[in-house]
Amino acid sequence: MTTTIDGRAVAARVRAQVAAEVAASPRIPGLATVLVGDDPASAVYVAAKRRAVREAGMRDLHRSLPAHATQAEVTTVLDDLAADPAVSGILLQLPLPPGLDAAPLLDRIPVGKDVDGLTAASAGRLARGEDGLRPCTPSGVLELLDAEGVKLRGAHAVVVGRSALVGRPMADMLLQRDATVTLAHRHTADLAAVTRTADVLVVAAGVRGLVGAGHVRHGATVIDVGIHRTPGGLAGDVRTAELDGIAARVTPVPGGVGPMTIAMLMANTVRAARWRRS
Ligand code: NAD
Repeated sequence: MTTTIDGRAVAARVRAQVAAEVAASPRIPGLATVLVGDDPASAVYVAAKRRAVREAGMRDLHRSLPAHATQAEVTTVLDDLAADPAVSGILLQLPLPPGLDAAPLLDRIPVGKDVDGLTAASAGRLARGEDGLRPCTPSGVLELLDAEGVKLRGAHAVVVGRSALVGRPMADMLLQRDATVTLAHRHTADLAAVTRTADVLVVAAGVRGLVGAGHVRHGATVIDVGIHRTPGGLAGDVRTAELDGIAARVTPVPGGVGPMTIAMLMANTVRAARWRRS
């Protein structure tokens, strides 16, 4: 029997915990999303994040800038937010319009307000195994694995994809949980031979249907991070139907990792607010 992991249920639980913590806070946490330009997909993502902020009872401190904003103008906005005590967390929505350099802008965000966990300072803390705010999607994957009681210590975890957003932090976070970690990518020779050795397989390649029955060993847990818009709806990087009776657990797309990303952003914002108070 293969269990389908219910990401929506776990995400709802995380968001309810966040709302309860906000209600009990002496000071209401605030999240500043920063959207530069008018990319339609980014606008949809930011709107969803702002809705979640309000639903959690937090302050929505959103800032919009036009597509022609300069590097200096975006820097000024980020510096203002960094200095503002009402702002618990800052999220710079990526990708930025052409002409803007994301890395130096991200690095204006102080480590204590880096709720996306994508600044060099946060990445460095993670790489060194130090406490800090972690990127939301890999945090959501760990939350799902923990909710399912999947043992990580001593397990072999294979992560497919090495992006700064998902794959690399995922590998570091699994390592921190005492898994033995293999990081596969587009140049990995014989991907299936590598993934077949995984107890826990996290697929974040951005290639629709990359992983199927031939990639998965009996009893493995398979987490599909991929998101692809298709005429038939959302699809992932894993051909999940093929894994029935092979994998112990799989995440669906939609309804798996997707809902966890925003839930973990809310959890990071509350955590950032708690740090500022302590
Ligand atoms: P990316 O394009 O930045 O990185 C993809 C990685 O996969 C690269 O490291 C590349 O080497 C590797 N890769 C590509 N083709 C491969 C192949 N054939 N075999 C092995 N490795 C291969 O993508 P990303 O930003 O990490 O996102 C990955 C996927 O996850 C995308 O589908 C994206 O939409 C999705 N995503 C989902 C969420 C969520 O909330 N669920 C969040 C972020 C990203």
